[in-house]
Amino acid sequence: MDAKITLPESELPRSWYNVLADAPTPPQPPLHPGTGQPVGPDDLAPLFPMDLILQEVSTDSEIAIPEEVLDVLRLWRPTPLHRARRLEQAIGTRSRIYYKNESVSPAGSHKPNTAVAQAYYSARAGRTRLATETGAGQWGSALALASQVFGLECKVYMVRVSYDQKPYRRVMMETWGASVVPSPSPDTNAGRAVLEQDAESPGSLGIAISEAVEDAAGRDDTSYSLGSVLNHVLLHQTVIGQEARRQLELAGETGVDVVVGCVGGGSNFGGLALPFVRDKIAGAEIEIVACEPAACPTLTRGPYAYDFGDTGRLTPLVPMHTLGHDFVPPGIHAGGLRYHGAAPIVSQLVLDGLVRAEAFGQKDVFAAAIEFARSEAIIPAPETAHAIKGAIDAARCADEAGTEQVIVFNLSGHGHFDMGAYDAYLHGRLEDFELPEAEIERALKAIEDLPKPAGVSV
Ligand SMILES: *Cc1c(COP(=O)(O)O)cnc(C)c1O
Repeated sequence: MDAKITLPESELPRSWYNVLADAPTPPQPPLHPGTGQPVGPDDLAPLFPMDLILQEVSTDSEIAIPEEVLDVLRLWRPTPLHRARRLEQAIGTRSRIYYKNESVSPAGSHKPNTAVAQAYYSARAGRTRLATETGAGQWGSALALASQVFGLECKVYMVRVSYDQKPYRRVMMETWGASVVPSPSPDTNAGRAVLEQDAESPGSLGIAISEAVEDAAGRDDTSYSLGSVLNHVLLHQTVIGQEARRQLELAGETGVDVVVGCVGGGSNFGGLALPFVRDKIAGAEIEIVACEPAACPTLTRGPYAYDFGDTGRLTPLVPMHTLGHDFVPPGIHAGGLRYHGAAPIVSQLVLDGLVRAEAFGQKDVFAAAIEFARSEAIIPAPETAHAIKGAIDAARCADEAGTEQVIVFNLSGHGHFDMGAYDAYLHGRLEDFELPEAEIERALKAIEDLPKPAGVSV
């Protein structure tokens, strides 16, 4: 059998899969921070086009993908599923490991899957400009690309420390026509407020979100665009899992035992896992593992609570596992996993016991990345390496138990812009961070007075 399982263009999924149609526990609504009442479509209309707001609250099982979006996705989809035979040999496992290769998109990650859909719906709603934030630069690149395709202007607030450390991601965004400023910036009230306190602020994702939301809320021509966390973002990513399911069938697999992904906000994990969650709800025995950094342990150590999506407390209150909106994670190299919260959908599935979360230190994660690069040849993003570590652990565990399992993980992106991180690891300069319980307790004080989700006692 081939090591690479491709699908013809004709098998590109025609609809997104909405897990809210099947999830055992209905989602809790986002709340208006002023009134404490559920936010309605009208509250969100200044930020998002109505099509996306309706997707955000939909409980339809299938939502058709517009032809215009399919036309763009076809530039790189369906993506290949690989059997990781060389990795299996290198680690000496009897299990079969597969990975879905999302690194083949033009921006190098899964993120264009939703960027394209979001840009399309904004353009169709007559908006001409998008505002967003980016941490490590992967989301900004994806949205810049998608904006270019649909003729929209794109303004990216890029966390200052990444802006300084990752100039090539900035240049990539500018190549696709976006304008990029370091955040905190003097362009918004939120940015100016931080700069007044600290002119040298390194910025954070929470601050950059505040800036982009303020920008979009203040202009009729502009939508805000978020690259993860929200229901509609996970929805758009489900092309990944639908394709992977079909490819495993073509590989002759009659079932899958373990599904693994890394979690920052939860979108690439959800994209691969949700179609398998559907099978699990229907009775299949599948272990579904969400891997996160020990330095930002949202799912493993954060309570399920209402919290703001941003530091500036501008967004609705979202029900999710969170470390508190002013938690600033240590400067680990997996920048895309340094977010204080996690998708409400993923958070609820963890609460319901359908998904298990695990946290790894970055040295172990980079060891897994090197093992993968030296066996399968692809250099993974540091974020992705968390999933690789999870998959290798699952294989070792099966070997110890004397079983043979089918394991699939999401290769969410390549690491070509992360050579600084690899350099640090290869030359002994990469550190692990202990996160003291006291720091988590401190950060959680910020959400003590917020409303609590119904029926939750953590
Ligand atoms: C952004 C990113 C992530 C983390 O975001 P999710 O929404 O959790 O998927 C993971 N891997 C890569 C390559 C990314 O670019």
